[in-house]
Amino acid sequence: MKARNLFLIAGFAAIGTVMAAEDLHEKNEPPMLGVHWARDAVPGAVARAAGSGAADMTFHGGKIMTAAVTQNIFWGTSWASNPGDKITGLDTWYTGFGGSNYAKTSDEYSGTNGQVTSTTRHLGHLIDTSAAAGGGRTSAILAEVCKVVTPDTSGNGYYAVYTDLPRRHAGYCAWHSYGQCAGHPVQFAFFWKLDGDPGCDPQSAVPNESQGLAALANVSGHELSEARTDPASPGAWYDSSGAENGDKCAWTFNVPYVTFSNGSAWKIQGEWSNNAYNNGTGYPNSSGQNGCVDGH
Ligand SMILES: [Zn+2]
Repeated sequence: MKARNLFLIAGFAAIGTVMAAEDLHEKNEPPMLGVHWARDAVPGAVARAAGSGAADMTFHGGKIMTAAVTQNIFWGTSWASNPGDKITGLDTWYTGFGGSNYAKTSDEYSGTNGQVTSTTRHLGHLIDTSAAAGGGRTSAILAEVCKVVTPDTSGNGYYAVYTDLPRRHAGYCAWHSYGQCAGHPVQFAFFWKLDGDPGCDPQSAVPNESQGLAALANVSGHELSEARTDPASPGAWYDSSGAENGDKCAWTFNVPYVTFSNGSAWKIQGEWSNNAYNNGTGYPNSSGQNGCVDGH
């Protein structure tokens, strides 16, 4: 969701149960975009808006990411001693995302700086075993990104911050935002630890992966697709209710798994395609609109 819509929906009583007001309205904070709401926490106003008005996303005059350069940051005291399969598994995920049919689901969108392409390049991961901050303040996550990365100078840098903190009462699984490190524009995303969290679990049956890895893989597809198509102010592609391409297909799965370019398999939500919706070739989102595609 776009930040201005978050401010708007904060006026509804229902929001108080899923996200604290201070999460939404910090002063001098980069905007919290593309919030991936938990299954049971989609605010009523958002759910209603998704089913009304024009289905397609429209262009809002901004840039897109032409060829994302990705790097993962594992932040928290437990990552060194207890990485499980997430660090290697997410490196595999991002490496396989590049050039995949799944990545191509965002290629129809363009911005002031060109066209989204399925080309992405993964730089691997960094580990910071200092205590992580939660997702309530975008500025804290941006500060962590700037602390540990050498920002990509192309403006296509996308830094995914995976913390070891459980979600508890937050209504969202992840979000993305943008800022600058040393004068270079950066995109970044925040992720809770989703182990044993039914509200953020795609219920994958893909073998040889932990539940926590499977959950992060699904929300990673949502956030990276949104960052590529709507990375910054004034914004590029979202619909009349502020929903980006990941939001519009959140928690809808077309097939048991999608295969990436490196052969890895993931249960992953689709992404909204105006083309597919207009041509009747997509599968339905939670509002019954046939505009979701997963490239399988
Ligand atoms: Zn989103």
